[in-house]
Amino acid sequence: MKKGDERALPEGRLEERFEEKYAAYSHGEALAEASRCLYCVDAPCMRACPTHIDIATFIKKIASGNLAGSAKTILSANLLGASCARVCPVEVLCEGSCVYVAWGRTPIAIGRLQRHAMDHGASPELLTKKPDSGRSVGLIGAGPASLACAGTLALLGHRAVIYEKSAVPGGLNTSGVAPYKMDAQTALAEVDFIRALGVEIQTGKEVGRNLSAGELLERHDAIFLGIGLGPDSRLIAPGADGPGVHGAVDWIARMKLDPKHSLEGVTRAAVIGGGNTAIDAARELRGLGVPDVKLVYRRGEAEMSGYEHEWNEAKQEGVVLVSNALVSEVVRTGKRVNALALVRAEAGNPTDQRLDPLPVDLVLVATGQAKLRDLAALFHGVQLDSKGRISADSSTGQTGNPRVFTGGDAMNGGKEVVNAAAEGQNAARAIDALLAAR
Ligand SMILES: Cc1cc2nc3c(=O)[nH]c(=O)nc-3n(C[C@H](O)[C@H](O)[C@H](O)COP(=O)(O)OP(=O)(O)OC[C@H]3O[C@@H](n4cnc5c(N)ncnc54)[C@H](O)[C@@H]3O)c2cc1C
Ligand code: SF4
Repeated sequence: MKKGDERALPEGRLEERFEEKYAAYSHGEALAEASRCLYCVDAPCMRACPTHIDIATFIKKIASGNLAGSAKTILSANLLGASCARVCPVEVLCEGSCVYVAWGRTPIAIGRLQRHAMDHGASPELLTKKPDSGRSVGLIGAGPASLACAGTLALLGHRAVIYEKSAVPGGLNTSGVAPYKMDAQTALAEVDFIRALGVEIQTGKEVGRNLSAGELLERHDAIFLGIGLGPDSRLIAPGADGPGVHGAVDWIARMKLDPKHSLEGVTRAAVIGGGNTAIDAARELRGLGVPDVKLVYRRGEAEMSGYEHEWNEAKQEGVVLVSNALVSEVVRTGKRVNALALVRAEAGNPTDQRLDPLPVDLVLVATGQAKLRDLAALFHGVQLDSKGRISADSSTGQTGNPRVFTGGDAMNGGKEVVNAAAEGQNAARAIDALLAAR
């Protein structure tokens, strides 16, 4: 798969300073690794993949030199096979389930092999397209859920039009994923691949602002809501509003996409939170050369919700945990942030005990993202659950409005790219069945 249009993103973005965590395999390395696979009949790796890629088969095809066949096996289960190869938490999914792990041996490097097949074998021509059905589907948001859904719909013969509010498509695959796993340009290459299947993407179209739900329902036979999550949660403490305190997802997006974004004058940073976004942001700050990076978390290390393997790597890279601590104030000199006042937390709740203040120049808040409740409510019959997720049939994504489907973070509350891909594809098949029946 080729890199995205090089003109799409300006040069001088901070993310360009990162090296890839895992370099691409050479053909020899891929062959050697593929030959270690036992091609298990009841492959546990395959069961652990939310898209159920036939891993044993695609690896066997690499071993026999059939890279196009290998890519076809991957794509027939997961149209986002290129990004999933780079960003999936394979340690807890396919590779974590490989039979080698049970024997105390190194698992097959499934992610790296998948990347090898996709880089050298994938092309849109591998996939068969059904004749034009004359039906059309409108998809809101150009993140992984909509991309996987739209690509599948296009292959099933339907017109698929994605409306994306940002200027750059790809959702968090482009704007959120850590650059050492996948840079924005690579995410855009996958968007181009989905376009090549016949999907139309209109950027700068925000449903609820310059495009109405009613217009979309009139224009299309069915709708897919792939809207993801909303803005970062705010830090509620005196002094928190102002320069130097940012939502982590927003900061990461600017680090990846905005050439004007800079870290000048930042030598001490704190990230608030204990999940994967907090760990990513802290590692990114260290990777960009900030010498002092602290993770401030209200509970203990064992209770952090981020992946253990990611946290272990963050510690090795020099990120330091300040556990059982809550921010009571952001202390400023004029407008500039210079410290965080902290109190001790017990079971995540504040106590009266003050801790030493933490000197900082920058604070990133990674304590969660809001749900886009108002947007979902624009579609008649679409309901939310008590956590603000869009209520839908988990196997089809069909909401309370039979013509409106959903998937990805908006439905699951925030999981992984591979879950968004799986749910988007499931919804596409359900939409296809609905259109066939009408
Ligand atoms: C910082 C960060 C790092 C992550 N790292 C990883 C990782 O390494 N591996 C992994 O597997 N997962 C990772 N994830 C999770 C993963 O990115 C998400 O699960 C996935 O992107 C969800 O896809 P989605 O399509 O549901 O939503 P999104 O990717 O959020 O896409 C939603 C899209 O909808 C658009 N949109 C919203 N409202 C409107 C509107 N009104 N009109 C038009 N468009 C709209 C948005 O602009 C966006 O482009 C990470 C998440 C974050 C926050
Ligand atoms: S479990 Fe491991 S050895 Fe078996 S098919 Fe999967 S990758 Fe190959």
